[in-house]
Amino acid sequence: MSGDLTELYQQVILDHNKRPRNRGKLPTANRVAHGDNPTCGDQCSVYLRLDGDRIADISFDGSGCAISQASASLMTTQVKGKTGAEAEALFENFHKIVTTGEAPEEISDLAAFAGVHAFPARIKCATLGWRAALSALHGDAVEPTTETHQD
Ligand code: ZN
Repeated sequence: MSGDLTELYQQVILDHNKRPRNRGKLPTANRVAHGDNPTCGDQCSVYLRLDGDRIADISFDGSGCAISQASASLMTTQVKGKTGAEAEALFENFHKIVTTGEAPEEISDLAAFAGVHAFPARIKCATLGWRAALSALHGDAVEPTTETHQD
């Protein structure tokens, strides 16, 4: 990977960290899951509205390192509108990218995290949001709520 490309990929992470997409609770969510990564202190909740087999809407909320939060943000943009099976296939690709550093050409923004493979401890940061999303997909249905407080 050239220096320019590395810089470009870092831009994607910085951008998602600075301006997270789909952040906050989703009142219409009918699936919710929480994930945490104690080794780094990252937290991530994923809210999604499953419409049949399709992820009609998704959001995340959490705190932690830049990689975990940027990855969760990017994840929401990638899986929104996809079927559960498509989302799982995307995660498989993403997991391959962060564990091997090799990204297929067509994977685009997800390749921003290829550099993570050099830092094995950070792989859990990068996959936290994805794992929470898959848990939400496979979890039990919850009642959508218009109330946003949960304390
Ligand atoms: Zn982390």
